[in-house]
Amino acid sequence: MNILCRAGVSGLVRMLRSLRSRTSALLPLLVALLAAPPASAGPRSTVTRKAEALMIDEALRGLPAPPTGSEVDAPARVDAAAEVEPEAEEGEEEEEGEETAEIELADDPRPTGRAGAGASKASKAAAKGEKARPKGAPECEFRSALYEHEVAAGDNLGRIAGRYGVRKDDVLRLNPALKKNPNLLRPGQKLKICPEIAPRLRQATEHVVKKGENLSKIAAKYQATPSELIALQPKKVAERLRKSPKSLQPGQKLVVMVSVSVLAELAPKDEVRGSLAASVQLPAGAGYHVKRPHMAYGTAYTIKAIQAAVSRYKQRRPKGPQVHIGDISSKGGGPLRGHRSHQRGVDVDVGLVHKGLVAAETRFVDANSNTLDVGRTWALIKAFADTGEVRSIFLDYGVQKALYEHARKQGVNEQTLDELFQYPRGLGHPHGLIRHWKGHKNHFHVRFRR
Ligand SMILES: [Zn+2]
Repeated sequence: MNILCRAGVSGLVRMLRSLRSRTSALLPLLVALLAAPPASAGPRSTVTRKAEALMIDEALRGLPAPPTGSEVDAPARVDAAAEVEPEAEEGEEEEEGEETAEIELADDPRPTGRAGAGASKASKAAAKGEKARPKGAPECEFRSALYEHEVAAGDNLGRIAGRYGVRKDDVLRLNPALKKNPNLLRPGQKLKICPEIAPRLRQATEHVVKKGENLSKIAAKYQATPSELIALQPKKVAERLRKSPKSLQPGQKLVVMVSVSVLAELAPKDEVRGSLAASVQLPAGAGYHVKRPHMAYGTAYTIKAIQAAVSRYKQRRPKGPQVHIGDISSKGGGPLRGHRSHQRGVDVDVGLVHKGLVAAETRFVDANSNTLDVGRTWALIKAFADTGEVRSIFLDYGVQKALYEHARKQGVNEQTLDELFQYPRGLGHPHGLIRHWKGHKNHFHVRFRR
């Protein structure tokens, strides 16, 4: 990719300037968003609301507005609004009407293979000033085009997978030569990827450490983790920072990466609309409660994967309360009241696991630090992720933080955290399998592949 070289110094300066102005334009919007009541509003106590506010506050501390173009699952054009959050999805009782983003999603992205269809789509895209979306590749099960990632300094398999919202195993499947030694990556090496998140071209630049800044703060500013930031530094500096992170001095120069462009057309469009030809109903089963059986129809693959995830979770954590399974799709699929997706039998809402009396509640209960069973919720999400059938999991950023920190304390290795979590890179920065989507504070939403 020569784009990086072509951008040149003047391009970089221009880009940095535009980023700065964009960032400041974003702040009021972010503030307004945070002040707004959550989408799944219902009667809740002030205490709960305070706890949530605290969680979000905590999650957002030190979190700058994202300086890069990014779009969370709605592959809208990269603009300031899309950087913050694309839309509210379903909270259970969410009113209809928050549908502004649907316009962006109306095109069916799936390559049809019909003669002429591609051409008309391309001209439509051109008319909108967009690049034509390339056809889905067979290696990517036609969900997205095949992309070539060039290994850069600081990359490891978990980070690379996370960047594109896929699993390490997906990368290994597409690049079998890596299987012998997945940790032996060299800069410049090319890897095939089927991106679930739009590829971003990045460029190295310099950050001068200011007084009061530490590694986490600087890392968050550039949508990185502290270890990732350290890995970008020359060997000696990196070694020193690893040994003593506090040796960081004001005035010191660090190498950082900034996104220079987003190849939005290379991410799959979200296929939220559609129907479900052969639907299978999730039967009642041991270990889980189906909230609305008449809304629990899915594809055979999805139903099987849900059952596999629950039984795997129950094996690991046999003592917990029943798993609360929310809506999947209606029989036959199509639009489902209260949801924007859940049309094709591949989406399921799953309640967070709580402790105490709340644990038995069949309605979804908002996460708060008093009742959230972080360990079990993490085990449940992991069980879903590990079915190998999941495209993405949507979960509130503040809840992600709680799970991330728990997992890290439990010794989950960093590559896996980098692979799975968007946190701590900022809620406007798409990364990992588990990503923020407004309205997912009392449940997580799993989107399956088929
Ligand atoms: Zn949902």
